[in-house]
Amino acid sequence: MMKLTVLGSGSSHPHPLRSSTSFWLDTEKGSILLDCSASAVHRMAQEGLPWADLDAIWISHFHLDHIGGLAPFLFGMKHAPATQERRKLLRLVGPQRFRDVIVAFDRAANYRLFEQPFPVEIVEVSANEAFAPLDGISAKAFKTLHKPESLAIRLADGERSVVYTADTGFDPKIGEFSKGADLLVVESSFVANKPVGTHLELSEAMELIKIAGPRMALLNHLFPEWDGVNGENLVREYVSPCEVLLAFDGLTIDV
Ligand SMILES: [Zn+2]
Ligand SMILES: [Zn+2]
Repeated sequence: MMKLTVLGSGSSHPHPLRSSTSFWLDTEKGSILLDCSASAVHRMAQEGLPWADLDAIWISHFHLDHIGGLAPFLFGMKHAPATQERRKLLRLVGPQRFRDVIVAFDRAANYRLFEQPFPVEIVEVSANEAFAPLDGISAKAFKTLHKPESLAIRLADGERSVVYTADTGFDPKIGEFSKGADLLVVESSFVANKPVGTHLELSEAMELIKIAGPRMALLNHLFPEWDGVNGENLVREYVSPCEVLLAFDGLTIDV
């Protein structure tokens, strides 16, 4: 049994209701944050989630709407009373060059973000490599068409599995990678006529869902143009193998 909480359903654009991308995933083996936008730092507290006990953070790529909260969160953890007694490991997992990116930030003003009351481990993974973001949780990454480093992730907790595409251009192989997942969290940045190749629009997200055939799908990374349409009605125009939800901040899904 896993449980996903949507911390941020939006894009990088400031929005009154949709914060930037982040999801909290509870598993039987511990908790994992999927991307850490700047807003995620406070959204965790707003949702009453035990942020001081968070076990691992997955970073899909280095765009600031996905990694911008990581340094502030480490800074907050270093000084917050709630983390001073913590001794268990915090594992940070991301693409190749992940260490360089966060160390560069750390050095910019001598924050010493990795000198915490508890150990911090940085793990860099490559596409198609099996790894364990948490002990007992198996994962695999898949290269996406967004940035040179961007990765989708598939996580399995026993029988249950979640795929999080993060930002990506259209590639049917992501559908194959997501085959049979219990939950497919897929970006659908634009409603239609997307202005860039490095994101998805609704028809492409629905195509990936069709290929993957998950038990449930969640559309996210919604740009402000979604404000002006009836998203549920648009989704219903497609034949889908499963229930397809539009993310909103605060939505929780049992997996
Ligand atoms: Zn991005
Ligand atoms: Zn993004």
